[in-house]
Amino acid sequence: MEKNNKAVVVFSGGQDSTTCLFWALKKFESVEVVTFDYNQRHKEEIEVAKEIADDQQVRHHILDMSLLNQLAPNALTRDDIEVKDGEDGELPSTFVPGRNLLFLSFATILARQIGAKHIVTGVCETDFSGYPDCRDVFVKSLNVTLNLSMDDEFVIHTPLMWLDKAETWEMADDLGAFEYVREKTLTCYNGIRGDGCGECPACELRRNGLHTYIAEKEGAE
Ligand code: ZN
Repeated sequence: MEKNNKAVVVFSGGQDSTTCLFWALKKFESVEVVTFDYNQRHKEEIEVAKEIADDQQVRHHILDMSLLNQLAPNALTRDDIEVKDGEDGELPSTFVPGRNLLFLSFATILARQIGAKHIVTGVCETDFSGYPDCRDVFVKSLNVTLNLSMDDEFVIHTPLMWLDKAETWEMADDLGAFEYVREKTLTCYNGIRGDGCGECPACELRRNGLHTYIAEKEGAE
């Protein structure tokens, strides 16, 4: 058995991070989750994360990251900024500069604090809507930097990195968590749980993946 089998999951209560939580619960002996409060438009997000952590009986850390919103106002935190995809090579209005850099850094500091060696994040390069800090090369580079900064050997795991949304649903299903993830998580930019508002870019991505997965599954039966 590995010497250190404890993990911290970066956790927002959405489809991706909840799937990562179930993945981590299978893989590690001890799991704790961390949620960052950066004044998301929907306080609901924090509530959903709390409920899921409670359901799964994992210790939940909520860290105040309001400085992120202070420095980098964006469509996820401000009602007066419209949620839209980037046009002509621009980044989408939901991009928060430095978000994953800061979240993964603080998650790793927390990991050190609680004696965990593993950090798990649901970032994904496949469906990444152009966020530069969801790229595999970025996470690997940060992992090296964090280890150098603390003279330690943390491992950042990205189980969803090369999956599309349909494959992420498949993973949740394989982990026995398909219905749970479908009903309990919040991905929608308008703060509606489960299948969401159906209209925002996050709902569209989630729904397309879900329909593709269900169609593939039915085709296979
Ligand atoms: Zn929505």
